[in-house]
Amino acid sequence: MLANPHKYVVAGYAPSVRAALAEAFDMPVGTNCQGRINTALRYLGFDKVFDVNCSADFTIMEEANELVERIRNGGVLPMFTSCCPGWITHIQKNYPQLLPNLSSCKSPQQMFGALVKHIFSKLSGVAPEDIFVVTIMPCTAKKGEKRRTFTEGLADVDAVITTRELAALCKENGILLNELSDSEPDKPFGEYTGAGMIFGATGGVMEAALRTAVNILDPDAPFSPLEFVQVRGLDGVKSAVYSVGGKKLNVAVVNGLANVNKLCEAVARGEADYQFIEVMTCPGGCVMGGGQPIRATIVKHKAEIAAARANVLYSADRVMPNRRSHNNASLVKLYSDYIGEPCGEEAHKLLHTHYRATPKYVKE
Ligand code: SF4
Repeated sequence: MLANPHKYVVAGYAPSVRAALAEAFDMPVGTNCQGRINTALRYLGFDKVFDVNCSADFTIMEEANELVERIRNGGVLPMFTSCCPGWITHIQKNYPQLLPNLSSCKSPQQMFGALVKHIFSKLSGVAPEDIFVVTIMPCTAKKGEKRRTFTEGLADVDAVITTRELAALCKENGILLNELSDSEPDKPFGEYTGAGMIFGATGGVMEAALRTAVNILDPDAPFSPLEFVQVRGLDGVKSAVYSVGGKKLNVAVVNGLANVNKLCEAVARGEADYQFIEVMTCPGGCVMGGGQPIRATIVKHKAEIAAARANVLYSADRVMPNRRSHNNASLVKLYSDYIGEPCGEEAHKLLHTHYRATPKYVKE
């Protein structure tokens, strides 16, 4: 597709990719190489280089508003996050009775494709059918996820490559990341906040959503919290209670699918007193996805690698001028010009999905 003159090829890479790709080029674990990724993707011939951090901000706008709507209107709670396709497959097969608890938001990857094909096409004048969306992701489950959602008859995402596959593609083309200089992603889907950045670490989606949900629930509060450190770290299950606008908000964060079943069973029995639960399949979250570089695991303990990669995202978040998704200026303008209200009719068409129970695979 990169060589096809009739296709306009657009790239977007996940938050966690920038925290690990450098390892494939012998740079130290914990190196943030986002500027070099932009340059490498341009050398490879992509027509536009965007950043999935931006669509992660859209995910937060939709997910935080959906959560608040459920809390205010007696909707189904607790609400589970829906960013991880491994988790979605697990709940569809094993806990179909909990599907109404799942957020209807598409993942940042799928939102990215829908936004590029149906909004960037309007901004650029390129027909949606001529745009080919490639995402670079930390895991192979994202390759399966690309078949999950379509908007107006078009697949949201056309091809998914992993972090390791991007490293291989660069090397095949003589592009050595360690020798590149930094460049910026293209606008408008290259603008993002610190909230979009931390999605790649366990607890990141929860923290990002809370930064916006708290603001919606209690807009007059003189001080709105920014860092929710109780949901950070590598414990398999974390929980915290926050008081927002006179209401108690109980949240839980689970990473590693082995840790999720007990919680699902408690939710099914009506015994889990939570409003919001984040679930990520991989222990440590997406920074430790199965498509990430593996060489470092030979010399370092996995927990050490997970902490160093998560630190890349949290350090970048700390120095961002905007750290809440609802303060992303491009996003605010795109909602106002094209999408309307978060969770509104147009937002539902572009950015939400639905789920159905799928049969379990039974061994003969
Ligand atoms: S947690 Fe793992 S399986 Fe889920 S999206 Fe992230 S990398 Fe993929």
